[in-house]
Amino acid sequence: MTDIITMTDIITPGDSDALIVVDIQNDFCPGGALAVPRGDEVVAIVNRLAKMFHNVVLTQDWHPRGHFSFASTHPGKNAYDTITVSYGPQILWRDHCVQETPGAAFHDALQIPHACLVVRKGLDRAIDSYSAFYENDRATPTGLAGYLRERGIRRVFLAGLAFDFCVRYSAEDARRENFAAFVIEDACRGIDIGGSVAATHVSLAGLGVPRIIAAEIKPGIMG
Ligand SMILES: [Zn+2]
Repeated sequence: MTDIITMTDIITPGDSDALIVVDIQNDFCPGGALAVPRGDEVVAIVNRLAKMFHNVVLTQDWHPRGHFSFASTHPGKNAYDTITVSYGPQILWRDHCVQETPGAAFHDALQIPHACLVVRKGLDRAIDSYSAFYENDRATPTGLAGYLRERGIRRVFLAGLAFDFCVRYSAEDARRENFAAFVIEDACRGIDIGGSVAATHVSLAGLGVPRIIAAEIKPGIMG
């Protein structure tokens, strides 16, 4: 991983800030069906961060059986093959986060009882959804942008799994929806397929999304 870009100012979360915790689910942690290497290491960091935010949103990948993004749905295809679909390239994955299976559950040690919203995504059998804001056609909204706006949120801080897929897409779409966005890089872990981590760094820089570290966030009125 390249050097983390840090900001000079300490950030104190307030009422117009939200922490978005992306996909910290068993299947994305070691031992899970689609494990992100060292994915479980973010749990303690995210628990600590969440205590500093009044507004915390969790996302949960939540697929029906036979989901389009599963290699097993496409005869002759293997995990990590790429197919072309109506909305562009789609990487195929091992079956993961099937609704109501233990793999789809949040990691046991994730402790954020005050989370105000759980956004489930990837429910449509025919479209994958990496982002917390849009399905992969980048046209079908999840409703999160409207929720955040109605709540007066102006800045979002992203953490979770995987850095170079669901966190990346969520950060990109947050900017597209005119939220200020920050990725807390040491509270994320990536999978790095075909240079996807480096591509994420380039994309975030281009969109004005700072990559920060958890230590730059300090408790405010909630602390
Ligand atoms: Zn998925």
